[in-house]
Amino acid sequence: MEENNKPVVNLISRPENMLKTIYTAARTCYSADLPINIYNGADDEEKMLKLIDRVVGSGHYSVIEHIQVTFAISNVSRACTHQLVRHRHMSFSQKSQRYVKEKGQFDYLIPPTIERDPELKKKFVDFMEEISKKYCEFTEAGIPAEDARAVLPNACATSVVTSLNLRELIHIANLRLCSRAQYEIRMMVKAMCDELIKVEPWLKPYLVPKCERLGFCDEDKSCGRKPKLEL
Ligand SMILES: Cc1cc2nc3c(=O)[nH]c(=O)nc-3n(C[C@H](O)[C@H](O)[C@H](O)COP(=O)(O)OP(=O)(O)OC[C@H]3O[C@@H](n4cnc5c(N)ncnc54)[C@H](O)[C@@H]3O)c2cc1C
Repeated sequence: MEENNKPVVNLISRPENMLKTIYTAARTCYSADLPINIYNGADDEEKMLKLIDRVVGSGHYSVIEHIQVTFAISNVSRACTHQLVRHRHMSFSQKSQRYVKEKGQFDYLIPPTIERDPELKKKFVDFMEEISKKYCEFTEAGIPAEDARAVLPNACATSVVTSLNLRELIHIANLRLCSRAQYEIRMMVKAMCDELIKVEPWLKPYLVPKCERLGFCDEDKSCGRKPKLEL
């Protein structure tokens, strides 16, 4: 895949005390001690990780909902963000096609299956140019951007700032890192996970495709990474 077809993902906000916050939430459920004392006494990373693994492993997910992270994402297609916004526990602020008028050729993403075939790629690029000309024809005729955008394709590049809690990120990773997910959202979610793992490496075993957590594949068509569940 061409480098310029890759999503650009940056983690722009996260709590510094992620592990201690989750540990305090988890311990509070089972301790006679005050939460603030648990927080101030939390310094043994191994102990914290062990407890977190146990509670999250048992489905006690509220403890990871206290952690909110924010990503700045660009160089992704509208087709990709359309899938992302289906996740209901996320907040979004997306570049508007109403307020940001395209001037000249709009940016777009070429799917790798088309990119790798020179003949099809040329057809794709020519068509994007044609659409761009039509869009400009409409805006120059006084049609507002919010209506002229009706001719723009799914391939149009967009930018989004999104915030979500750790429970939702793990859920999204489990679904979208699966090889059955569409390649672009898979790459984007992988980049989100990688950004967070860079600063919180203990999260690596959680930010995986669902089969890694289940131990089996529950998809109709399996990629073979894990055995299929025989019913
Ligand atoms: C491989 C793949 C293919 C897909 N194909 C299609 C498709 O062809 N067409 C299509 O329309 N969509 C498709 N989707 C989108 C899919 O149907 C979901 O809308 C999307 O994945 C969001 O998942 P979610 O509802 O689990 O997650 P979220 O919205 O992120 O919610 C997280 C969890 O919260 C709970 N929750 C949230 N809202 C509710 C609610 N209202 N009621 C009860 N529980 C709730 C559920 O437990 C849910 O799993 C596809 C998704 C994937 C991963």
